[in-house]
Amino acid sequence: MACDDNTRVDCDTCREALSARTDGEPEPTVPDGHLRDCVACQDWYATVNALTWFGADDLAPTPDVTDAVLGSVEPRTGLLGTRWRRSR
Ligand SMILES: [Zn+2]
Repeated sequence: MACDDNTRVDCDTCREALSARTDGEPEPTVPDGHLRDCVACQDWYATVNALTWFGADDLAPTPDVTDAVLGSVEPRTGLLGTRWRRSR
């Protein structure tokens, strides 16, 4: 995204620095001047902070329960099932 401002920090550089800040890593540049003037980066940073607040970084992979769920479902019977079969 081309959103240069007078601080010579573009959106990509700003977001890289903000990402480092969020992760507690050294920031490659000072993004605050760009962030103050760029609505797109403000929105991006708000979203990142919201995801971090919800613990999205700590989400563990969940087990695949597809087979267990589908195996527990009875085949559809009755009027609706009958109509569906007739229309095919
Ligand atoms: Zn920006």
